[in-house]
Amino acid sequence: MLRRAGPFLRHFLPERNCSAGYSSYCSETKMSKLVQARRLEGVDKNIWVDFVKLAATYSKVNLGQGFPDFPPPDFLMEAFGRAVSGEMHMLHQYTRAFGHPPLVKILAQLFGKLLGRDLDPMTNVMVTVGAYQALFCCFQAFIDEGDEVIIIEPFFDCYEPMVKMAGGTPVYVPLRPKAPKEGKLMSSADWQLDPAELASKFSERTKAIVLNSPNNPLGKVFSREELELIADLCVKHDTLCFSDEVYEWLVYDGKEHIRIASLPGMWDRTVIIGSAGKTFSVTGWKVGWTVGPNQLLQHLRTVHQNSVYHCATAAQEAVAQGFQRELEHYGKPESYFVRLPRELQQKRDQLIQSLVAVGMKPIVPEGTYFLVADISKFKSEVPDVPNSDEPYDSRFAKWMVKNKGLAAIPLSAFYCGAHKDNYNSFIRFCFAKEDATLKAADNILQKWKLEKTAP
Ligand code: PMP
Repeated sequence: MLRRAGPFLRHFLPERNCSAGYSSYCSETKMSKLVQARRLEGVDKNIWVDFVKLAATYSKVNLGQGFPDFPPPDFLMEAFGRAVSGEMHMLHQYTRAFGHPPLVKILAQLFGKLLGRDLDPMTNVMVTVGAYQALFCCFQAFIDEGDEVIIIEPFFDCYEPMVKMAGGTPVYVPLRPKAPKEGKLMSSADWQLDPAELASKFSERTKAIVLNSPNNPLGKVFSREELELIADLCVKHDTLCFSDEVYEWLVYDGKEHIRIASLPGMWDRTVIIGSAGKTFSVTGWKVGWTVGPNQLLQHLRTVHQNSVYHCATAAQEAVAQGFQRELEHYGKPESYFVRLPRELQQKRDQLIQSLVAVGMKPIVPEGTYFLVADISKFKSEVPDVPNSDEPYDSRFAKWMVKNKGLAAIPLSAFYCGAHKDNYNSFIRFCFAKEDATLKAADNILQKWKLEKTAP
């Protein structure tokens, strides 16, 4: 038995007995019940809808939403071309529901190598519709009413509604910034968990913790010590770990991405989540995966089988070929996993320079393709609305896109409702952009700087 359907269905039943006939009152009452969706209360508002629209309407340069505006690698586009136009016409049909065999095989081979264990492609890997669906499967499969899920703030925003939609309760623990060294820019490594605070969030109700390293939005790459702290608590409290590692290849300055599943006691309780969207710069393909022990993945398969069932075959075939190519070039300079972070690191540094020029204080990310910048210096300059219940960073980001044509996302979007005002003077930029796009952003910022300094 995966989980109960009762509480959800109960909600849709009319309260009154309508057997005496369908009076208009009765059908209205029934309708009003039908259109309510209790589980969705409080998770129906989403800032992305507003900010994507604002960017589309006003932005000259969009560094808001996280997707590359440069093309994916040639070898991947060629593989996709072959998949849809070659002789293999069966690639237009359903494939194996839990993952196209060539893709699960290559993922098992790669992750087996990375984790140092033998993986069975059929039971230790499942392909999903992007990492989003992998996350959805995790929460649906394991979280029930009464269960608590620890979420580290700031967090990729969909974790919260997904926990709630499954009937669980999110419990938040913040990464707390410590001051950078004198004269230095802050680094994402300066945002840390307080070990005692983290430990205090675990209880017998804790079912899972969501770990996202490298972290969106900060770009923090959790260190071995930090991961050991989390792992020890997971083992002590017998807790699952949903490890969102979609930016696993995007780490800079020689940092190492460590997989928490490789730490003692963690393989059996961890689901690793990955995304071809981030790995190969193809966010629109929506190919993701989960890797983990069969005793966990069997439940993800149940959710997957009975919800989306299947992911696009041709895209899976192309991603499989992409991984095949990467395995052959593993660790070599021509590998995309080596080339992409090298190029992104330069873009990161370019954007940092542009932001510093206008007076923002970037937090140097160790990973991902996001960069958070401190805008507190602008509080006196950019119109504020006293007593507004909208966090300052959100108003600032709206002002910036409308007045400067530059789109970014407020950091408060990555905090729960109660904590949105705790870190309300930061905005997030995406730097996975063509050099021309970053140059256009720089032009806007340089012009802004001149306006600021003009008498
Ligand atoms: N996790 C994180 C941390 C993300 O940033 C994203 C995408 N922005 C996802 C999951 C979803 O990835 P996908 O596009 O593969 O569904």
